[in-house]
Amino acid sequence: MKIRPKKSLGQNFLSDKNIIKSIVEIGNIKNNSTVLEIGPGTGNLTKFILKKKPKNFFVIEKDHNLAKVLHEKFNNKINIINKDILSFELKDISKEKIIVYGNLPYNISTEILIKWITDNKKFESCKKLILMFQKEVAERILAKTNSKNYGRLSIISNWRMDIKKEFNISPNCFFPKPKIDSTLLTFEPKNKYFYIDKPYNLEKITKVFFNQRRKMIKNPLKQIFKKPDKILKKLKLDLNLRPQNLSPLNYFEITKEYENLTN
Ligand code: SAH
Repeated sequence: MKIRPKKSLGQNFLSDKNIIKSIVEIGNIKNNSTVLEIGPGTGNLTKFILKKKPKNFFVIEKDHNLAKVLHEKFNNKINIINKDILSFELKDISKEKIIVYGNLPYNISTEILIKWITDNKKFESCKKLILMFQKEVAERILAKTNSKNYGRLSIISNWRMDIKKEFNISPNCFFPKPKIDSTLLTFEPKNKYFYIDKPYNLEKITKVFFNQRRKMIKNPLKQIFKKPDKILKKLKLDLNLRPQNLSPLNYFEITKEYENLTN
C-alpha cells in the first residue's frame, strides 16, 4: 500500500535507525513489561520495541490506513487499536504499570502529558512516559522558576513527575522532514508528591496566574480568594512578586488553600 503522510495527523516518520534504537533503549523493556505505543505510524519504533519481547504490547493508531499497514506488517504479534488516544480509556488494556512511547504530533504530546499527570488512573498505571515534543515546548516543560519559559507546563509537570531531557532530534531524522526541532523527554511518577485533592484545581489556579503573567500576584490572588492578604501572609509571599517568581511549591500550596476553601 502506498502511504501518503497526512499533515493533519502530524505524520512525520522517524527514519534514523540510531535515534530509533536509542529511544527504544530508554524504556528498559523487560520480558515482563507492558508497553503502549501511541501513534506507531508505519511501525518504525514498533519493530524495535517488539525485538525487546515485552510481555504485552499495545499500539494505538488513529489513522485507519496505517492501522491496516500495521496489521499486515506485524500480524497478531501486537495488539493494534485503531482509535484516537485522546478519547481512549486506559483501563481497557492493562492492570500492570505501563511503559508509554509516543512520537506524535507535537500539540497532542502536551495534551497526553497533562492527562497522564492529572488523571489519577492514568498516573497510577504509568511506569514511564517517553514523549517527543517540539524543542520550544520541551524547554517550557523543563523551565525553572524566574526564567522566561517558566509557566503552567513546568509547574504541572513537576508536580508529580520526575522529568529528564534525553536528547534533541534534528528534522533530518524524519520523513517527511518537519520544520521544527524536536526534543525527547521522559517522565517517571514521583513516589512522594504534594497532596492535591483534585489535580484539576492546579490547572485552574495556574491558569488564573499565568493569564496575567506580567501583573503582580495580588491580582490573581484577589480573583481567587476573598481575603488575599491572609493567604499572602500564611504562605509568606510578597505582594510585589509576579507569577513567574513563584516556585512550583508555592502553586501547590495556593491550590491547597483553594481546596480548603471550596471543600
Ligand atoms: N511513531 C511513528 C509515527 C510518527 S507520526 C514514527 O516515529 O515513525 C505520528 C503518528 O501518530 C501518525 O501515525 C498519526 O496517524 C498518529 N496519530 C496522530 N494523532 C493521533 C491520535 N490522536 N491518536 C492516535 N494516533 C495518532
